[in-house]
Amino acid sequence: MIPLVDLKLQYQLHKAEIDAAMQQSAAAAAYILGPNVKALEADLAAYCQCSHGVGVANCTDALHLSLRAMGIGPGDEVITTPFTFVATTEAIGILGATPVFVDIVPETFNLDAALLEAAVTPRTRVILPVHLYGQPCEMDPILDIAHRHGLRVVEDCAQAIGATYRGRKVGSMGDLGCLSFFPSKNLGCFGDGGMVVSNDAEAAAHVEMLRRHGGKVKYHHSEIGLNSRLDDLQAAILRVKFRYLEEWHDARRRHAARYTELLQGAPGIVLPIEIDDVRAVYHQYTVRVQDRKAVQARLAEAGVSSFVYYPVPLHLQEVHAALGHSRGDFPHAEAAADEALSLPMFPEMTEEQQDQVVDALRAAAAYR
Ligand SMILES: *Cc1c(COP(=O)(O)O)cnc(C)c1O
Repeated sequence: MIPLVDLKLQYQLHKAEIDAAMQQSAAAAAYILGPNVKALEADLAAYCQCSHGVGVANCTDALHLSLRAMGIGPGDEVITTPFTFVATTEAIGILGATPVFVDIVPETFNLDAALLEAAVTPRTRVILPVHLYGQPCEMDPILDIAHRHGLRVVEDCAQAIGATYRGRKVGSMGDLGCLSFFPSKNLGCFGDGGMVVSNDAEAAAHVEMLRRHGGKVKYHHSEIGLNSRLDDLQAAILRVKFRYLEEWHDARRRHAARYTELLQGAPGIVLPIEIDDVRAVYHQYTVRVQDRKAVQARLAEAGVSSFVYYPVPLHLQEVHAALGHSRGDFPHAEAAADEALSLPMFPEMTEEQQDQVVDALRAAAAYR
């Protein structure tokens, strides 16, 4: 079976270096906020064109603490996309704030900036764009609207570390950017991990305080915080993997270009597009098909994994029932949830594996 990602293979390929880094961290015994965390924060901040990096326990906390640092609370509205992982709106809801959805652009699956301004109300405080599947959102109009209305911008970069929009790295364009090191993300550790990157020293310092029980000095606490730190052991692993990240991004981009070339014109398959002047990092290569369940079953029969990110848009999730949305409110997000299908995509994928995916998908989508 061709997997969606092959984490076992990736570990085997870099085992010696990763094992050495883990042993070094274990032996140094600075397990909490140790030197690997500090070094990784500096490296990833610079990589993301930011002056500050704050390692946290996961990206869900990165989003939550970023919104806290922006002063978000009950009564505030945060505008975001309904077509994302639930963590995006969890971070809003846990603060008692209200997610306000804007529909997506069907071709990119990302929030439609042209619909954004109509969603701004006197209660709007933050715009939270999600760079889904590794493709940057159309940021210039988003930043322009934020600027004109005095709103802050928090970028959900969980799927897009290293992607660029008109030469600018995701995470550096808004006030704060949130990274995930969940194992299957483009830069994944061996458990949970995340980071907030920013060029706003004050906001970064606030997140830094919130991640360690709301205090600048040990045992002196000025506000309710969290215990949300990135482990030194995970940071040690990530520092090794970070050396390969650009190479991996290039491989993903090569695979994506080859998928597009080989699937061009195939009946029943809509291919993803890249917007102008971006470097998407293809966390996923996601096509659209009709009768998706049958297509997936035929792919599985042919030994090809596929997955649906995400089958239910957030405005139709039970957790957000109180918002009072119903089917039809965000038709593009709903169509994406019905049709999106992600194919195997990982740096180590071979052309033979990819050919098998392409042949199986062509056959599965043409079958009637
Ligand atoms: C993975 C993901 C998150 C959450 O990341 P965790 O590190 O698992 O908390 C948030 N947003 C998006 C878009 C994601 O894909």
